[in-house]
Amino acid sequence: MKPEQFPKHIRNYLLPTPAGKMHYDCLGCRQQYDISRLLYTCPRCGQVLMLVDEDSQRLKSINGSTWREIFDYRQMLKMPAMRGIYRFHEFIGPIIPLEDIVYLGEGNTPVIEANAELQARVGCRLFFKNDGQNPSASFKDRGMASALSYINHLVRQGRIDNVLAICASTGDTSAAAALYSAYLHPRVRSAVLLPEGKVTVQQLSQPLGSGAKVFEIPGVFDDCMKIVEALSEQYNVALLNSKNAWRILGQESYSYEIAQIFDYQTGDLAVVVPVGNAGNITAVMNGFLKFLEFGIIQALPKIIGVQSLHANPVVRYYQDYSKGKTFMPITVKPSVAQAAMIGNPVSMPRVIKLVETYNLKAGLQRVFFVQVTEQQIMDWHLTANRHGHIACTHGGECLAGLVEALAKGLVSDKDVAVLDSTAHALKFVGFQDLYFQGKLKTPFNILSDRRLVNMPVKIRPVDTKCPEPGKPLAGNELQRFILASAEAVAQQLNLQKT
Ligand SMILES: *Cc1c(COP(=O)(O)O)cnc(C)c1O
Ligand SMILES: [Zn+2]
Repeated sequence: MKPEQFPKHIRNYLLPTPAGKMHYDCLGCRQQYDISRLLYTCPRCGQVLMLVDEDSQRLKSINGSTWREIFDYRQMLKMPAMRGIYRFHEFIGPIIPLEDIVYLGEGNTPVIEANAELQARVGCRLFFKNDGQNPSASFKDRGMASALSYINHLVRQGRIDNVLAICASTGDTSAAAALYSAYLHPRVRSAVLLPEGKVTVQQLSQPLGSGAKVFEIPGVFDDCMKIVEALSEQYNVALLNSKNAWRILGQESYSYEIAQIFDYQTGDLAVVVPVGNAGNITAVMNGFLKFLEFGIIQALPKIIGVQSLHANPVVRYYQDYSKGKTFMPITVKPSVAQAAMIGNPVSMPRVIKLVETYNLKAGLQRVFFVQVTEQQIMDWHLTANRHGHIACTHGGECLAGLVEALAKGLVSDKDVAVLDSTAHALKFVGFQDLYFQGKLKTPFNILSDRRLVNMPVKIRPVDTKCPEPGKPLAGNELQRFILASAEAVAQQLNLQKT
């Protein structure tokens, strides 16, 4: 639909113009900083920052039900800037003009209800939100669209040029960073640091394919992160890790989309997310909090953060929790939920603050953390996909976490679960292969359940010639080969002749 065809009372709000006044807000010393320069941590106390629109009260002149209409009508617009996460422009990057927005097809990912069989097995109604259907096949594209739109905005204003975007990554951040940077080539280039041997071949191929400079570093993600921090302190680079508060804003779109697809009825939802560096759960909580503040939703959903026993610093923090408790980083063990294999989450201060606010606003505890075994992650990952999903190991971690939360009574069969399928199954297909081959015993301690193993069956009929490379069969030979092969397949499938 064209803007002039929309109802009158919506038309004025349909296409946002730059507004608001944004600043960085230090979570440590509360100091505020101008956004005209790129800033990642507080120059005074070193804490992480959040972006705040100090002028956001202006948005209250529009009531909640009108906002809901605005977002719903915007879904009918064809212009690229409004087709992704920026249909929530006022809540993501209100100061960015539409012409500076970078849209590569992110957001608007499908929400797929599990079939009756899987729901019965798990014990509640559940949906997967397939964030693996983003352009670089993970949710990280939401944050990158936001961060790179802002960088593009600064570039187009002539405030920065020749940007070197840099990040440490467990795989998906670098894939997304390299993709969005490549789109802004040549004014933006990218470099990524990966822990050697700890990202999948598929993930490694992504930044390479996008033309990023890729560095493999000995150690784990936490080591790479320290190096990137040192670089960003001493050199002129644009940091694209989730320390970058612009990424958090973009990832809030995940919550906005859940609100929208459930017609803004969020009160009986349980939103389940895997937790690694904790940027995602930060954004998810903040997103719902903002929509509540502006009357767009009436109730906060439950939030269930899930971690593997092999990388569970956040779960440990909230065990025997008391206000003001000190966070203790841990040393991680290998996990098939590799993108969440983080012992010292950068966004932990954000999480601590937001969990408090979230529970306070809800009037009762609504944020919970559960841990699952590597075995549960793999078994539920494969089980989900056997029921028509495309969940990666982290989607499996969510499903395992939901099962755990149900067992603990944190979620009931009255709740409707929305599981974050954070990446596409194909990125982590190596773990599926190893499971099928029974090779996940060490270091994951995972045994392969025979019912979940699936291997290709080789058909090679005896007593007939078979086609060889460059030597196709013809005539009777081909006929014999076809019939013999068909019979062999039918036998494997126990088919009866008609
Ligand atoms: C990054 C990532 C996570 C973890 O998200 P955080 O924001 O680091 O907590 C989970 N799953 C996948 C597939 C990821 O790429
Ligand atoms: Zn500070």
